[in-house]
Amino acid sequence: MKPHGPIPPGFCADSDGMLLIGGDRAEALADMAGDTPLFVYDSAMLTARVAEWRAAMPAGVQLHYAMKANPYAPLLAFMAGLVDGFDVASGGELKAALASGMAAGDISFAGPGKRDRELEAAIAAGATLNLESAGEATRALSIAGHLGLTPSLAVRVNPDFDLKGSGMKMGGGAKPFGVDAAEVPALVRRLLDAGADWQGFHIFAGSQALDSAAIADTQAQTVALAARLANEIGVTPPLVNLGGGMGVPYFPGDKPVDAAAVGVALGETLEARDPVLAKSHFAMELGRWLVAEAGVYLTRIVDRKTSHGETFLVTDGGLHHQLAASGNFGTVIRRNYPIAVASAFGAEPAETVSVVGCLCTPLDRLGDQVTLPHAGVGDLIAIFQAGAYGASASPATFLGQGPAREMLV
Ligand SMILES: *Cc1c(COP(=O)(O)O)cnc(C)c1O
Repeated sequence: MKPHGPIPPGFCADSDGMLLIGGDRAEALADMAGDTPLFVYDSAMLTARVAEWRAAMPAGVQLHYAMKANPYAPLLAFMAGLVDGFDVASGGELKAALASGMAAGDISFAGPGKRDRELEAAIAAGATLNLESAGEATRALSIAGHLGLTPSLAVRVNPDFDLKGSGMKMGGGAKPFGVDAAEVPALVRRLLDAGADWQGFHIFAGSQALDSAAIADTQAQTVALAARLANEIGVTPPLVNLGGGMGVPYFPGDKPVDAAAVGVALGETLEARDPVLAKSHFAMELGRWLVAEAGVYLTRIVDRKTSHGETFLVTDGGLHHQLAASGNFGTVIRRNYPIAVASAFGAEPAETVSVVGCLCTPLDRLGDQVTLPHAGVGDLIAIFQAGAYGASASPATFLGQGPAREMLV
């Protein structure tokens, strides 16, 4: 038997033992959707999450949603009413962000390899480009010149440090992201000389960290770096985007980030900041932390079989919707995501089984030798922490399966 990750707090069952999501029975949601597999996102949990962040963080710090975590259109439209901005990372995401109702001026566009037509779309819309290189800056200025528009430009800085304990390091050393800190002052001066509307710095050091002290330490280093650069340039950055990094507990032993501790430390960091940043605004951009917990992936058992004494629950879902839960999205050692039998939620574990998907590959495992209540054909399996990097970060067309249904409740 192998343990599975912690089920997020706040989920419970009705008197029949059926998992409730946003107050609805999992089985009723599957009926409503018309079929399984199905992602359900609970809007009340999204609202609560944003409120938790705002209560924890110093007043005035802005919250941006990094939409690559979950670009489902109804969820985006819902988030547009909750957060202060969207961070996008492609022309496709820019289009979706604009369609969600988020004001163009509150959208920023990061990401290496932006093509000319993507730069043009952002400049024409009035979104801010987080420039990833001097070459990209040259192209953006030239496109803005052709359009006769003043571009809104920030510089993404590749910091000289990374976020300790983060699952994905996005700063420190040689990276495809951002402009090396040493080259930033000259680039910003060039933008100012060209008459661009310089928006400030974007500094993103890493992702999926659970240690509040490490996050706080990175934020302090980020603010110090922004101050050092601003002093060198001699101009106050209107906005310092501090990145994010707050992760969620997926695996056994993982503990949630202490958001209150991050907020207290950020308050102290901002209180003590260099005078050059006195008038700057600050933002954090979060994807996973905002949306992961609100999502549940429901998949139905289509077969129950034994092989050499091991029991397999074969479902209609799999890695084509839940690549990360199968252990194939940035993890070195496969461990079990939080998983439950939705139709016997909270019942005593009764047997050790492996929950697999319907794809003809041994990689397609959603729960490896997990101990669950008894479940059979027709029962629903729930995978938690499914609201981020699920549907859009998995190879839906693999083996001709197609996408899962999605629903915001
Ligand atoms: C991926 C990404 C994010 C979101 O990271 P999460 O771990 O989902 O919070 C934020 N900003 C940038 C620049 C990113 O690339």
